[in-house]
Amino acid sequence: MAEDTPYSYRLVKRIFDLIVACVTFLFVCPFVAFAFIRNLRSAGLLQRVALVGRDLVRFTSLTSSSATIRRAIRLVDVARGHASIVGPRLARIEELREDALHIRRVVPPGLVCLQWLRIRSNVAFVPEIASDLEYAEKRSLKLDLSIMVRALLVSLYGKPATHFTSTVQMLGVRIDNMTQGHALEYIENTIDGLVGPVQIAFVNADCLNKAVAHREYRRTLNSTSLVLADGIGVKIAGSLLSRPIRQNVNGTDLFPHLCQMLNRKAGKLFLLGARPEVVEALANRLRIEYPSLSLCGAADGYFADEDVQVKQIADAAPDVLLVAMGSPIQEQFISRNADRLGAKVSIGVGGLFDFYSGRIRRAPRWMRDSGLEWVYRLIQEPGRMWKRYLVGNFVFLAYTLAEKFGVSYGEPNREQVRVG
Ligand code: UDP
Repeated sequence: MAEDTPYSYRLVKRIFDLIVACVTFLFVCPFVAFAFIRNLRSAGLLQRVALVGRDLVRFTSLTSSSATIRRAIRLVDVARGHASIVGPRLARIEELREDALHIRRVVPPGLVCLQWLRIRSNVAFVPEIASDLEYAEKRSLKLDLSIMVRALLVSLYGKPATHFTSTVQMLGVRIDNMTQGHALEYIENTIDGLVGPVQIAFVNADCLNKAVAHREYRRTLNSTSLVLADGIGVKIAGSLLSRPIRQNVNGTDLFPHLCQMLNRKAGKLFLLGARPEVVEALANRLRIEYPSLSLCGAADGYFADEDVQVKQIADAAPDVLLVAMGSPIQEQFISRNADRLGAKVSIGVGGLFDFYSGRIRRAPRWMRDSGLEWVYRLIQEPGRMWKRYLVGNFVFLAYTLAEKFGVSYGEPNREQVRVG
């Protein structure tokens, strides 16, 4: 990380902070006054706190049990020059390790940053220190502005939850509410023979719409070992239903970690799905990038004889079988052939092969961090995706609100699988 921060950047950032903090403070004043009156008798209304500010200077500020008052105080901290609007989290000295202090020596602490966005979009796959380091390395006024605008957007997704249930019911489907790390651990344990064989499915808003309309698909999902919450739509629905979703666990983000794990264990992977040139391109890429991973088969998803295809997979006996044929075809293929596939873990991964083969470009990181990946997919393939997103998102919202107000979409009927 370059330690020299240009004076012009520091000066413009300071002026910008001052203007934004003062204007926002004026705007929130009536809310602060209201919160103050409402919490007048609360023991934790105002308490002193020692924080680490700009250039690692320690300063005394206040904190409050009321979030509105606490936020207003932080704006005052920004106006006083101790912090910035955008920057690594303003913290107490005892919370900061040497590496976190080092980052705050280069960039002032702030109120919102990359990890703040990622937590609210449910894609905080890396620790806070890694996000802060990324911010410090890329620091620029353009990035600050982009983080501020995205902060306004992700605020709409609801407050980050602190308590989660191990499973969440949504539109008649039971979702296993776990992190990407737990899902990987589960897969590794299955390969090591601690559980399994298992079937894993990812469900996004579109899948849940389909599950409402197709009873068979819903049944298949509910008899799947692990159903993971994919995408911002499921996260928002979780907030609306007061059943918070822990993390966006999608196949595309999980895939590189899965490959690393298989590479480490010299595990066997079978790829099934997509067009022949797509699966071949992906297979070639994996052979180069993960030389110790044993690619025991790769076949496209347009086979004529299912029995022949299943036998090819069973003969290869993969640790992990990825089926990329879209939902619900892939889940039903796995479920129908569960007893004869011979794979320890079978996972339906939708368009994953298209992304990693390079056929379709994945949304840039800033869009993924803001829950906007679906917008990118819509722009890329409007002809195919308009119905899924422009119509489907509203249908999903309507189904969710209906569930909130008492509509039932059928009870899940599979046994509970509890992990982590
Ligand atoms: N596909 C397939 N066989 C089929 C139908 C589809 O292999 O009979 C492939 C298709 O080529 C594409 C993927 O399945 O690679 C579906 O991608 P989509 O984006 O629809 O999946 P999603 O992630 O949205 O479920």
